[in-house]
Amino acid sequence: MAVPFRRTSKMKKRTRRTHFKLQVPGMVECPNCGEMKLSHRVCKACGTYKGNDVVSK
Ligand SMILES: [Zn+2]
Repeated sequence: MAVPFRRTSKMKKRTRRTHFKLQVPGMVECPNCGEMKLSHRVCKACGTYKGNDVVSK
């Protein structure tokens, strides 16, 4: 439910925002080349997905 912003204490606000993370979620390390990539996507650096060459370079 919406609450007027002055009703939310500084601590309450800051505590909630500890869950805001800098890094984009869904980023994983590529098992082939070690670059950071989006999970369930073809690796941009080496063009592999699940150990198979998908994009030839
Ligand atoms: Zn890769």
